Amino acid sequence: MAKTYPFTLQELPYPYDTLSPVVGEETLHFHHDKHMNAYVDNLNKAIEPYAELHDVTLNGLLAHLNQLPQTIQTAVRNNGGGVYNHQLYFSTVGAPNAGTKPDAALQSAIERDFGSMDEMKAQLGQTALTRFGSGWAYLVADAQGKLSICSTPNQDVPDLSQYVPLMTVDVWEHAYYLDYQNRRPDYVKAFLTLTNWDVVSKRYADRASLLETN
Ligand code: MN
Repeated sequence: MAKTYPFTLQELPYPYDTLSPVVGEETLHFHHDKHMNAYVDNLNKAIEPYAELHDVTLNGLLAHLNQLPQTIQTAVRNNGGGVYNHQLYFSTVGAPNAGTKPDAALQSAIERDFGSMDEMKAQLGQTALTRFGSGWAYLVADAQGKLSICSTPNQDVPDLSQYVPLMTVDVWEHAYYLDYQNRRPDYVKAFLTLTNWDVVSKRYADRASLLETN
């Protein structure tokens, strides 16, 4: 993925059948190749006329939305957020029950801030389930490493000047309808078996650089 305009669609870091049967191949093709691709294209269309924004990173655009030209704030919020959220979503999962584990630093932070891994997953899952309509649930870290759970509607992102999203659950129907129809609880429960803890642990360790919003 290019760091600045023109943004490009990041390839999936695994074959399309990797997440089966939790997330099927057909869902991944639609979700990545069609839905995510549209967010990339529409973000580029919004930014294109504004040369002064061509060297601003995605984090920078999203963390300073209210400083953008007013005419493109909504487009960047929706489409830039769509790119950010899907990049996080696709890059922090892998094959079901692949056996990865949080590293020692993340494991101890989860135990300190939630009591246990099971409790963290229960809270993240519950937050995803109770997000009304379309949106996202996240595990985030602040600069000091404190973990918390949050949720956003639509394609909004958490405050990227304060929090590093470590992992996320997409609860737009396009993420699960082909595999689960209206059964969001089944999708959320199964989706949480896909977490690639190697990638999530690295995001936690790298949180200082991921918080940069220039
Ligand atoms: Mn999605």
